[in-house]
Amino acid sequence: MEKEHRAYKSHCLVLPYPSQGHINPLFQFSKLLDHKQIKVTLVTTRFTSKTMHRGSSGIELETISDGYDEGGTDQAESIQAYIERFWQVGPETLAELLEKLSSSGCPVDCIVYDSVMPWALDVAKKFGIVGAAFFTQSCVVDNIYYHVNKGLLKLPLSESETSLPGMPPLGPVDFPSFMYDLGSYPAYFDIVLGQFSNVEKADWILCNTFYELEEQVVDRMSDFWPARTIGPTIPSGYLNKQLEDDKEYGVNLFKSNNDACMKWLNEQQKGSVVYVSFGSTAKLNAEQMEELAWGLRRTKSTFLWVVRESEADKLIKGFVEETLEKGLVVSWCSQLEVLAHEAVGCFITHCGWNSTLEALSLGVPLVAMPQMSDQSTNAKYIKDVWKTGVKAQPDGKGIVRQEEVEHCISKIMEGEGGKEIKRSAMKWRELAKKAVDEGGSSDKNIDEFIAKLVQL
Ligand code: UDP
Repeated sequence: MEKEHRAYKSHCLVLPYPSQGHINPLFQFSKLLDHKQIKVTLVTTRFTSKTMHRGSSGIELETISDGYDEGGTDQAESIQAYIERFWQVGPETLAELLEKLSSSGCPVDCIVYDSVMPWALDVAKKFGIVGAAFFTQSCVVDNIYYHVNKGLLKLPLSESETSLPGMPPLGPVDFPSFMYDLGSYPAYFDIVLGQFSNVEKADWILCNTFYELEEQVVDRMSDFWPARTIGPTIPSGYLNKQLEDDKEYGVNLFKSNNDACMKWLNEQQKGSVVYVSFGSTAKLNAEQMEELAWGLRRTKSTFLWVVRESEADKLIKGFVEETLEKGLVVSWCSQLEVLAHEAVGCFITHCGWNSTLEALSLGVPLVAMPQMSDQSTNAKYIKDVWKTGVKAQPDGKGIVRQEEVEHCISKIMEGEGGKEIKRSAMKWRELAKKAVDEGGSSDKNIDEFIAKLVQL
């Protein structure tokens, strides 16, 4: 079909890695493109498409294969095996999809691909179409991995402090866990370094952050890495209301108990609730779960704790029943709706990048309890750079004890420092809104991306 005859200006495939923390930002970006008259087709794996719950966004869905159509990662014997097969089958089935779309009169102009899947760029280039890498972590973390990938930062980390361009000196535990605990998750470390294997061939580098949040590092990186900040990719009902009724990301891999959460939150006092969640993948060990549970029981505050089904057997027996008066434990909720609720006064988080951005954008103070991956670096910035939270200190065994949990909560909920943190959180909330508002730093970058696409 000739371009002039199409009802849309350009057609983008958007390809996230199939986990909640990757689907959310890329799907939200899809909704924005769609709003700005770009046709978007979201691509996920066959298994994910069968199991996910979808809202009504109107975005079309197509699938590729990860080689495990009947069970995804659960079907693979290890994450290493999953990735190896996905990286082999993914490009082949993506190429088939591009051919199918082209022959059905709906050719693709651009692939916005999750940067952890760099093979998608090779496929785009083979088809002569535009490739846009979408980075789902902070620019600070991208900067660190870039330096490791280029051999500019040597491992193991040998200094007590290391300085990289545009960043304050970091101690070893402020780096991503794969670096200070070398060999801990080799498959994941390979993936994050692999993001840079061909990135210089990408036509665009899009980052889910906003300029004002990471100004120094974005400026310094721009000498060698032309990143465009386009975030925070959060449903616009919480930011600038650009999209109508946009209060949910819209693709859920978990079944939510949201009605129960909202009903319970509505009964709580303003600012009185501690919300606790470790995202979609982190696994706490049983001892840590127990200490956290006792810590929550000790505090004066009430709590809403998300314990995913796969983690539930680690909850101490009788805890839910014993704490009915002061807390609610659910297996999943709509996190944004919870964070936006006036009853929530503080968020105990693993500091996944989406959770961090969501809390910053909604002005919610944090207790950082990083578990793995980039979370330690996000925690460092939350505490020392953005000043929107405190960091819970683990003991020599790596466990955050109940007294520390209680202490961190009371610092935020009661202390003078808590007010300071709340003020910072509100400042970032305003800056996040400004970035995505018309003419804001992220909005301008998105418009520039679209303007180039429609000229193709
Ligand atoms: N989330 C949610 N409900 C929950 C817990 C998490 O909707 O009960 C969402 C949260 O809003 C975020 C994503 O899941 O967008 C988790 O992403 P993040 O980067 O914070 O952590 P990850 O799951 O990747 O470790």
